Amino acid sequence: MTTTAADCLFCRIVAREVPAEVVHETDTTLAFRDITPHAPVHVLVVPKAHQPTVVDTARTDPRVLADVLVAAGEVARSEGLEQGYRLVVNTGPDAGQTVFHTHVHVLGGRAMTSPMA
Ligand code: AMP
Ligand code: ZN
Repeated sequence: MTTTAADCLFCRIVAREVPAEVVHETDTTLAFRDITPHAPVHVLVVPKAHQPTVVDTARTDPRVLADVLVAAGEVARSEGLEQGYRLVVNTGPDAGQTVFHTHVHVLGGRAMTSPMA
């Protein structure tokens, strides 16, 4: 959990140094399609400012965390997820977090009956 902005994949996507399919952008957030989708719609929403976890972003700048959630809602709307969608935030290695730059998964386009799968 010690990734710094200098060697962070999502910082590099925000800087457009690594290509991604961007679907939404604001002053403080960027949303792009997950490279390994787990649902018909699978978009990642990230704050442009590097923090390792969502809790760090909440502590550092709660307004940016709100921006991320508003952006997630905009993505869901533009992707046609009127029937609902799931927001997933993996926090820490045991939860499966692999990129230590705050991100919210927006998952939709299929029924997700179990709350955890
Ligand atoms: P997490 O496991 O919650 O940290 O989520 C990280 C996500 O980033 C995974 O779902 C990966 O498929 C996704 N990912 C990794 N590299 C890229 C990339 N270059 N472009 C888009 N998504 C990526
Ligand atoms: Zn970063």
